Amino acid sequence: MSEQINAFELAQKQFDHVAEMLNLNPGVREVLRWPMREYSFRIPVRMDDGTVRVFQGFRVQHNDARGPNKGGIRFHPNETFDTVRALATWMTWKCAVADLPLGGGKGGVICDPATLSSNEKEQICRGWVQAMWKNIGPRNDVPAPDVGTTPQMMGWMMDEYSRLVGQYTPGVFTGKPLGSGGSEGRTEATGYGVIYAVREAMKHLKIDSTKAVAAIEGFGNVAQYAAIGFVEILGGKVACVSCWDRHDKKAYTYSKKGGIDPRFLLSITDQYGTIDRKAAEQAGYEVEDGEAWITKEADVLIPAAIEGHVNAETVKKMSDRVKIVAEGANGPCTIEADEFFKANKIFNIPDFLCNAGGVTTSYFEQVQNDMNFYWTKEEVLQRLDTKMTQAFHAVLQTAEKEGVYMRDAAYMVAISRVVKAMELRGWLNATW
Ligand code: GLU
Repeated sequence: MSEQINAFELAQKQFDHVAEMLNLNPGVREVLRWPMREYSFRIPVRMDDGTVRVFQGFRVQHNDARGPNKGGIRFHPNETFDTVRALATWMTWKCAVADLPLGGGKGGVICDPATLSSNEKEQICRGWVQAMWKNIGPRNDVPAPDVGTTPQMMGWMMDEYSRLVGQYTPGVFTGKPLGSGGSEGRTEATGYGVIYAVREAMKHLKIDSTKAVAAIEGFGNVAQYAAIGFVEILGGKVACVSCWDRHDKKAYTYSKKGGIDPRFLLSITDQYGTIDRKAAEQAGYEVEDGEAWITKEADVLIPAAIEGHVNAETVKKMSDRVKIVAEGANGPCTIEADEFFKANKIFNIPDFLCNAGGVTTSYFEQVQNDMNFYWTKEEVLQRLDTKMTQAFHAVLQTAEKEGVYMRDAAYMVAISRVVKAMELRGWLNATW
């Protein structure tokens, strides 16, 4: 039944479950179950063929008790107000669990970027900012890239905002290109962050990472660097990645005996994350159905595509060897999948902990923008590793102390921090 629930209902259900465990008072629950502010707007664009098309845009600001709202903008054909609400809510927990002085937000545009020209995309980006500029800014809401958006798009958006306010304002968007206020390490950040968390989980479970095998879903930015990191940082093998083929409009799994070479696959992948199938086959890769990734003999599964793909049906196909599910994507596992993990003692690294590396590096980018002084890549990745490791252990400690599952523990850490900030700011006074 709950397989039918949408992403926002899932986010609320997960919250309600932990609110009950924490015995939160009803008023606090009501504040945190819903976003504080929501925006919905239309973006008219003159297309290259001269016609005008109108795109639907969104921004949701879930909670800013701990600092400015923070979170990406997705360009996706299946975007809805509820997906954006869910993702904004998860951003509040993500920033809190990573102990960043930031709140949660998310934006979106209903569109398929792969079908748009560069000029059309630039117009959507500038139109998004024209609709939202009064309600975003370095001190109140700072968007970033996400599914379907790129550093170049953040560069256009930052430029539009700077024009509108009449002042160069790099800290209004993060994930910008290098040379235009971007940070070293931002490209690798989310994927490497996943790997730092997986490394800590393996230490905890006493798994030798050099003998470990991972199977990865997706081959966008997160999956690409999770695959590279699994091989280059942990010394393990990646059995496969899967990827959405935008030409065939279906997903495929790419595997290779002895493990895939992620840097090779990256070299034959276009900017939308579609691997050149012929080139892969010529290089000896086996190309299977999109769901085959979950059936592989692997110690670690890393779903790093989009929501809901690990569910009651697909978990039945998992191999007995799987010990860790590390959620690179936001919301990849359903409630039924969680029940399966609990029953089978599979260690889960929940999404808003596992993929917090992106927003953590976004935070570093903002700090560098504010100082107008930029760190080296080594410095950024070192600080990222420290933050991810601390976040992982804060959650693990709570899980062990309270005897709860990792997702619940991550929620407990995050919700407690947000409630504390609301209390300290006096938001919970009766006069409010
Ligand atoms: N879109 C990324 C996420 O979901 C990064 C957000 C950010 O950097 O603000 O975490």
